[in-house]
Amino acid sequence: MRASALCLLPLAALLAPALAAVPYSGHKVYRLVPTEEQLPVVAEWRQREGIDFWSKAHLAGHPVDVRVPPHLQREFLVHLYRHRVEHQLLINDLEEVFENERHRAQTRAVSKNPESRISFTEYLQYDEILQYLSDLASNYSDTVTVESIGNSYAGRDLGIIKISSGGDDTRPIILIDAGIHAREWIAPAAALYVINQLVENAEESALTDSVDWHIIPVINPDGYEYTFTTERMWRKTRSTEIVTCVGVDGNRNFNFHWNETGSSSDPCSDTYAGPMDFSEVETSYLRNHINRNIDRIKLYLTFHSYGAYILYPWGYTGDLPDDWETLDALAQDANEAQLAAGGPEYTIGSFNNVLYTASGVSSDWVKGVAGVNLSFTLELPGGGDEGFDPPASDILSIVTPFFEAIRVFGQYIADNYGR
Ligand SMILES: [Zn+2]
Repeated sequence: MRASALCLLPLAALLAPALAAVPYSGHKVYRLVPTEEQLPVVAEWRQREGIDFWSKAHLAGHPVDVRVPPHLQREFLVHLYRHRVEHQLLINDLEEVFENERHRAQTRAVSKNPESRISFTEYLQYDEILQYLSDLASNYSDTVTVESIGNSYAGRDLGIIKISSGGDDTRPIILIDAGIHAREWIAPAAALYVINQLVENAEESALTDSVDWHIIPVINPDGYEYTFTTERMWRKTRSTEIVTCVGVDGNRNFNFHWNETGSSSDPCSDTYAGPMDFSEVETSYLRNHINRNIDRIKLYLTFHSYGAYILYPWGYTGDLPDDWETLDALAQDANEAQLAAGGPEYTIGSFNNVLYTASGVSSDWVKGVAGVNLSFTLELPGGGDEGFDPPASDILSIVTPFFEAIRVFGQYIADNYGR
């Protein structure tokens, strides 16, 4: 198999001119634990401008983390007290947390060992991620191919790594993407760890014996870079077709019940569905890649944060797909494997029933239109009182047990479709 090198832009060309980072001084994060009756009370705030729900569950008794800017804190607290919603202050000043995050990243950059190809003790920027993929293509040219499925809005390669030990492109494919939501840094980190284990850990070769893996570790690189350079909490793409506000929620942009429910028509909303379905180049190149390989793709996993949840369709309706029991059983097995390896309990269910109503999400489109039955959204753990994402020093302790869940998914495809 041929290793095609990605065209790597120099780092300077990728970084925006030194823009001042958006400050989050005085922003507080509250953890609410609503009862069944209080769920609508909490939901009232979901669409409120300036309020940012970090965790999403609308299950009674599940914690919900909410970022509240200074000007809304009084009103928010009054609302919580009035409805007697159990809550605690999780983060007193978010800017302090991000300041620490930046400081740690700078310290590591200085002390970085040039010999080590990848480290799971830091969150990598996009050029470093592409460089790692490129290195794998050079060093494992028998099994690894790295390509670009297209370019992002700002022209970055949408890098994909294909891992195949043979079979001349006839084997079933497991497709994984991560990072469609820019700020969810643990998701690309987890995708990189899966890549690392499948390619560089010889003991995991059974997982690639009869199945091919296609992994896109950062499907929204423009947004991802923007979270490093300018706005840590950025979620959307960085397209500027609509003049009022930048970007579209890529995970509301797929054309299956597009913009029907649980998404916004307001370009300034964090859940803006876009001016039309597949308006974003990132989602349409992903669609094209899926369509080109549709006969072989047997499993789709999209990595997000935060949860922890393993979710299957549908997002747009509370109804369950006919084969939900198959999906549920596989999710239960995956959860148990990672629990046994020391991971947290993942809540399992349909996207709509566990998180919220959302239409135009990728896992719905992959099942409902592309016809890949096994389609899951995986929400990795968040940072708790340490921020949106876990501190970089915790990456390994999260992605290591998480890989055991991925192993169960991989083994299932090998057992049922491998060749
Ligand atoms: Zn997400």
